[in-house]
Amino acid sequence: MTYQKSLLSSIKKPISIFNDPWETYNDIQEHNALTLSNIEFTTTNLCNMRCSHCAVGYTLQTADPSPLPMDLIYRRLDEIPNLKTMSITGGEPMFSKKSIKNVVKPLLKYAYDRGIYVQMNSNLTLPIDRYLDIAEYIDVMHISHNWGTIDEFTEVGFGAMEKQPPLKAKLRLYDQMLSNARTLSEQGMFISAETMLNKSTRPYLNKIHNEIVNDMKCQRHEIHPMYPSDFASQLEVLSLTEIKEAIHHLLDIRHPDIWMLFGTLPIYPCITNEDDQALLHRLRNSKNITMRNDPDGRNRLNVNVFSGNIIVTDFGDENGALSNIKNDKLTDVFNAWLKTPLAQSLNCHCPKFNCLGPNVLVKNMYYPDTNFKQNEIDMHRLYPMH
Ligand code: SF4
Repeated sequence: MTYQKSLLSSIKKPISIFNDPWETYNDIQEHNALTLSNIEFTTTNLCNMRCSHCAVGYTLQTADPSPLPMDLIYRRLDEIPNLKTMSITGGEPMFSKKSIKNVVKPLLKYAYDRGIYVQMNSNLTLPIDRYLDIAEYIDVMHISHNWGTIDEFTEVGFGAMEKQPPLKAKLRLYDQMLSNARTLSEQGMFISAETMLNKSTRPYLNKIHNEIVNDMKCQRHEIHPMYPSDFASQLEVLSLTEIKEAIHHLLDIRHPDIWMLFGTLPIYPCITNEDDQALLHRLRNSKNITMRNDPDGRNRLNVNVFSGNIIVTDFGDENGALSNIKNDKLTDVFNAWLKTPLAQSLNCHCPKFNCLGPNVLVKNMYYPDTNFKQNEIDMHRLYPMH
């Protein structure tokens, strides 16, 4: 089976280093303010794997409850005038046929009809027909690749599973992931593989990058430092110095023709550290490199299709649910969130560098004593806007 991009989706500007619809700064440029333009849906609690590092790994279940009526979900989406992007996550969104039919496909069709860009977060280990079946609706297929060795996959990839599948079955899934990525890429799907920087991946970044480029034929390699939170407590976080070394190493060994996207980087123009500034300079001046501001809470909210709960991130959120789509419009919830003391304390903005500052995890981990609001004032003095 092959697929062809439909006419409507081909009208959308192709995704490239010049057009990353998930970049929060687009909304600042368009609306002059943080604007809700991105909704992430958690569409299933089911998955065939149980990765230790998975954002939702410890909340996965063995059966999904009934989702909320799609009419309510459509109505809440209709109420967002600036909706540009949608992300579909789980669990594994393509695992449950019931969920695909009742939730995933209706959401994909809604996005298609509004010309909205869609990203799916998948482990790509299921039979390829499932992915081909929805391929025409997908703008970005996002997968994780943190596997420096095959043992890492068979252990960490099932680290949160009580009853372990046989080794052979695990190995089959790894092969399936590689071959699915290659086949779908060759058929035109944009596949973005994400690697977290942590103590487990750091020794294998060269191997992982080569596998992503050569074997899986992905169009983009995303790099995000791993931040400590409940779900990832087993894995070790890198120090700021180690993160910077790892990024330099990646820039040394990478394939320069492949887009590398660095997200949630704990390095900011206002931090007057020579190494930081040298790395930022290198990143800005390297070919096919982009840095992305963190979307969580800046242009994105997450909605759980079962409970209707609205949160700012897709992982264990210290603040609990902000609200519920049964009661509130998403734009109202987003605007109320922006007014909270937490959001106010975090949201800084320096137009000179298109920078929107750290999220709460980055701030707590690396900059607990830094006052970014003061840095913002200082930066605006140094770089007046007009
Ligand atoms: S937006 Fe915030 S983090 Fe970025 S340079 Fe300005 S003050 Fe620093």
